Amino acid sequence: MVEKFEEIKRNLQDEIRSIDAQKNAEQLRVKYLGRKGIVNDLMKRIPTLPIEKRVDFGRQVNSLKNEIADSIDALIKRLSAQSVSTSKAELFDISLPGKPQFVGKKHPLTQTIDDVKEVFACLGFDVAYGPEVELEYYNFEALNIPADHPSRTDFDTFYIKDDVLLRSQTSTVQIRIMENQKPPIRIIAPGRVYRPDTVDARHSFMFHQVEGLLVDEGVSFADLKGVLYQFIKAYFGQNIQMRFRPSFFPFTEPSAEVDISCSLCEGKGCSVCSYSGWVEILGAGMIDPNVFKAVHYDGEKYTGFAFGMGVERITMLKYGIGDIRLFYENDLRFLLQF
Ligand SMILES: [Zn+2]
Repeated sequence: MVEKFEEIKRNLQDEIRSIDAQKNAEQLRVKYLGRKGIVNDLMKRIPTLPIEKRVDFGRQVNSLKNEIADSIDALIKRLSAQSVSTSKAELFDISLPGKPQFVGKKHPLTQTIDDVKEVFACLGFDVAYGPEVELEYYNFEALNIPADHPSRTDFDTFYIKDDVLLRSQTSTVQIRIMENQKPPIRIIAPGRVYRPDTVDARHSFMFHQVEGLLVDEGVSFADLKGVLYQFIKAYFGQNIQMRFRPSFFPFTEPSAEVDISCSLCEGKGCSVCSYSGWVEILGAGMIDPNVFKAVHYDGEKYTGFAFGMGVERITMLKYGIGDIRLFYENDLRFLLQF
């Protein structure tokens, strides 16, 4: 009888090896464990055996039955796992074109501020920030802007209270830095500024500026020119020309407005440069002794320069953008071009 059991097991293992579909595995189960199956045939023999052998034989048939059931279960499990992995493989078509992934970008103004920071970092400038809600003192008085100056009226400045306002220029940061630090000073201060301008293609009630400040012993106008020259070449390109025009600002003396050759028409003349070939990009000058007085610096010992430029303006000139409002509308068709 033992040989008979071993033969059944061998046959089962042979059949399992040749089976590759779940359907066939079920047929195998019927063949061995079904009502008319091999195991049941053995069970039916029990009553024909001598009484003393029946218990032992029954136990052996039962253990054979369990062994067969385990083998077939394992086979079905293996086959179903295989079928899942094949159907997954069928789903993946490597010939399909890829799905484009949306990649976030920096806003063009943030990008410009980062570019400016990078150029000035190479020239040894730190970055400083100041509050947007500012005292009148820092926005005007300490910057040598007289009490009757037209920019101090509420036509040109947003007042919150009598002496509290939204800063109209980042020059406020100059004063805050000089109050707390002794020379040498070498900083740029990027940030938002506010003016009650009517919004149109060139104006906004809020825009961004970058202020620059350098104070040390023996600083001259030539240093100012050298620093701005480096910046303009780095930001706008090596072929850009630069020129200084005498100007006036209350907090610098002498003062200059700085033009660059129009990058859009390369100096030939276009509507952006009013057919002059030049566009103004910033104001600059040597710090007025009255500003040094306000921060208790020794004007005999130290000299310095400051400059300020509009972030929107230089971005518009670099990329040929004709309307400042595009920066604030969050239209992805515009923003994705940068
Ligand atoms: Zn032009």
